[in-house]
Amino acid sequence: MIPDMKFVATTCPYCGVGCGLLLAVRDERVVGVEPWQAHPINEGKLCQKGRYAHQFIHSEDRLKTPLIKRGGSFVPASWDEALQLIARRLSSYRPEEVFFLASAKATNEENYLFQKFARVVMKTNNVDHCARLCHSSTVSALAKAFGSGAMTNSILDLEEARCIFVIGSNTFEQHPLIGRRLVLARRRGAKVISADPRLTPTAKEADLHLPIRPGTDVALINGLVRRIIEGGWEDRGFIEERTRGFETLRETVMKEESTLPGTSRITGVPEGDIEAAAEMIATLKPAALLYSMGVTQHTSGVENVLALANLMMLTGNIGRPGSGVNPLRGQNNVQGACDMGALPNVFSGYQSVEEDGCRRRMKRVWGVEELGEARAGITSTEMMEILADRPGRMKALYLMGENPMISEADQNRVRRALDNVEFMVSQEIFMTETTELADVVLPAASFAEKDGTFTNTDRRVQRLRKAIDPPGEAMPDWEILSRLARAMGYGKMFDYRRAEDIFEEVARATPSYAGISYRRLEEPHALQWPCPGPHHPGTPILHVERFATPDGLGHFTPVEWRPPAEVPSEDYPLILTTGRSLWHWHAGSMTRRSKSLGGEVETGWVEMNEEDAEEMGIGDGEVVRVSSRRGRIELPARVTSEIKRGVIFVPFHFAECPANRLTNAALDPVSKIPEFKACAARVDKLRGW
Ligand code: SF4
Repeated sequence: MIPDMKFVATTCPYCGVGCGLLLAVRDERVVGVEPWQAHPINEGKLCQKGRYAHQFIHSEDRLKTPLIKRGGSFVPASWDEALQLIARRLSSYRPEEVFFLASAKATNEENYLFQKFARVVMKTNNVDHCARLCHSSTVSALAKAFGSGAMTNSILDLEEARCIFVIGSNTFEQHPLIGRRLVLARRRGAKVISADPRLTPTAKEADLHLPIRPGTDVALINGLVRRIIEGGWEDRGFIEERTRGFETLRETVMKEESTLPGTSRITGVPEGDIEAAAEMIATLKPAALLYSMGVTQHTSGVENVLALANLMMLTGNIGRPGSGVNPLRGQNNVQGACDMGALPNVFSGYQSVEEDGCRRRMKRVWGVEELGEARAGITSTEMMEILADRPGRMKALYLMGENPMISEADQNRVRRALDNVEFMVSQEIFMTETTELADVVLPAASFAEKDGTFTNTDRRVQRLRKAIDPPGEAMPDWEILSRLARAMGYGKMFDYRRAEDIFEEVARATPSYAGISYRRLEEPHALQWPCPGPHHPGTPILHVERFATPDGLGHFTPVEWRPPAEVPSEDYPLILTTGRSLWHWHAGSMTRRSKSLGGEVETGWVEMNEEDAEEMGIGDGEVVRVSSRRGRIELPARVTSEIKRGVIFVPFHFAECPANRLTNAALDPVSKIPEFKACAARVDKLRGW
């Protein structure tokens, strides 16, 4: 034990796995991270991001005082001055003129308060967060199929699977401590199938790799469904007792495009591999499905997830350990931000803003007479559309920890949208490409400087514990919101002394969190929702006996394949897909300030197939231009055999070569998620190379 060193048990600020870690604190500084040995998810292990999670905390660039833009430049201001200005400006707008963008990096308490502020103070349902960009397709589709839009099983029971089907997820690099479970399951004899246009580290570990063409997921899954039915491998008992709609599903997959040759033609996956995958998924029970944004970020995102739900119900793989439909959530608290109602159509706990009963409940808990209109607000992607293309309709934007300039599709359009905002406030820990455009910037606390809870990908509510004070005058997002509400005359409804006070209100307002309290989260560290009462043990597996639909049945929803919004053409002959690097996190504001992580991968690249590169005369490491109909970037080529011909991949973390300058903002009609994962692009040699 080092003298004067204390260790604070908390939760990793990066991905949705939710590993436990210990922050080593000496002299009011976080000097290191140790893995939490007894934590059930990571069992004393951390990935590189978690291991170096402390390195950005004391960065010189941290925001330490409120900033107000005057004459085009930011000048420091007092809290009082900044909050009075915001209060005055916000009060001048009508509910439909403002938009609130919450954050999956903020705590449950902060997201709950953020949507409460929007709904109580500003009387608007125009509130959303970055789940719109990652798993809104999941929420819509699984709510329809199963009655609940969350991961059905637990990370811990993955090891019991005999087959694991991974589609659209590079689990080893993006959810490394779930990747570890995959390895452990394999050691116990499980077979792993990976469907991915790239031979990722996950695909390399798999027993079977299906090199799928981006944007053909429904075709592949319908092909698997048809082959399972033809093989007589469907779970008749489960279908009859637990589901409805099977006959229509069967009719839908009887078309030519779902035969083995038809599926292979559309997806580019060899017929024999489709057949082998179908047999493995149906006959090696239990089988678990893992998927992520390769599935959801499409104009057919909802249909992709519905098709996967069909597949797992068809094979009876719901409601038992080692099975399930398991969307891997990206950000550390994206599940929690959804649960807390940072969405335009629901209060916390997915209670509809349009239903009288839910509205009455929230008015009672919040102590208000009136809320805004009983109608869902607009989504963040619709807000960008309105701002960019219909200036004057939306006027004010309030952001908490979001950087849409890097994370939204079609960056030039996002810039146009943000330039059209009349008044913009951003709560942040660093200046970002987005805060530069704001009128007021408020300095927020990082994960190490506040208390709260995060809810990870398997619905596990866990504590975040304060280790040190925030720098300068920075303060937790919840405290900023409480002070602003007070400045706007709503002090009584936002009178919280600590994060725990807010969580107690969350439990009163949210049926699925009703039995969770800070006291109960001390031992055994976490509870998985639904946890409806103080003695309820939490729910590791959903839909064990009945689904959460009104009739208790799982609903098959037949879907047919349709191509992405943009397909390759003569001018743009390649398909661009995007993703992340093992070493970086989203817009890079934290990991690129980390000495150990930032040094590993310093800038972006375009991955391209070696045969495509040879045809174009492009060598490995050569700087090339990548263009789409929306813009162009220049970056080095990584020439490899590990990506499908005709497909290129660009990571989206790097502001100097932003992948999202190229991506297509076309939306899924239901979830309004943009099609980040497939657009038409081209690669050109640059003169001088
Ligand atoms: Fe953090 Fe995710 Fe890595 Fe765990 S797997 S240490 S939660 S980034």
